[in-house]
Amino acid sequence: MLLIIEKETIIELARLVGGEDAARVMKILLRKPGIVDEEIASRLKLDVREVRKILHRLNEFGILHYELSRDKETEHRIFKWYVQQEQVIGLILTNMKKILDRLKAKLEVEKNNEFYWCGTLGHPRFLFSEAMDQLFRCPVCGKPLMPHENAELIKALEWKISEIEKALEEMTKLKKAEEITEKK
Ligand SMILES: [Zn+2]
Repeated sequence: MLLIIEKETIIELARLVGGEDAARVMKILLRKPGIVDEEIASRLKLDVREVRKILHRLNEFGILHYELSRDKETEHRIFKWYVQQEQVIGLILTNMKKILDRLKAKLEVEKNNEFYWCGTLGHPRFLFSEAMDQLFRCPVCGKPLMPHENAELIKALEWKISEIEKALEEMTKLKKAEEITEKK
């Protein structure tokens, strides 16, 4: 289960770093560790220079590593690319912690404040003093701003926070296990 989530998250990270093509490159790398750039390019029908650019970008970001060898006949350098699993876990942990902090801050704001809202999705909510400034009218649609019952939102935030905390705990264990095996 964790492995599936992890792969999806790695692909998502690649997408963040280098867009849709980077996500496609990452999918192939996860399926075929040690694949060379020409093969990736022909499989994805991309220019090999474009693929190299993506690979180097992901490499700079610490998601990949490569093995260098030489073709015995042509003397050309061959790069075999691999996903840097352990680094990726580190990256995911950092990113998840950031998201967790943001959600916790949001939860505090929701718990400690009363909001006023017109009730239309996508329209802004206001704190009491801000709502007063707007004369209790939504500046977008003009409907009255009413106290917003945010218990559901608080419940949803708390659920999401607990889910992320659980995942973080699992991944931290995974990382520690890896560090121990590396030291041996
Ligand atoms: Zn409105």
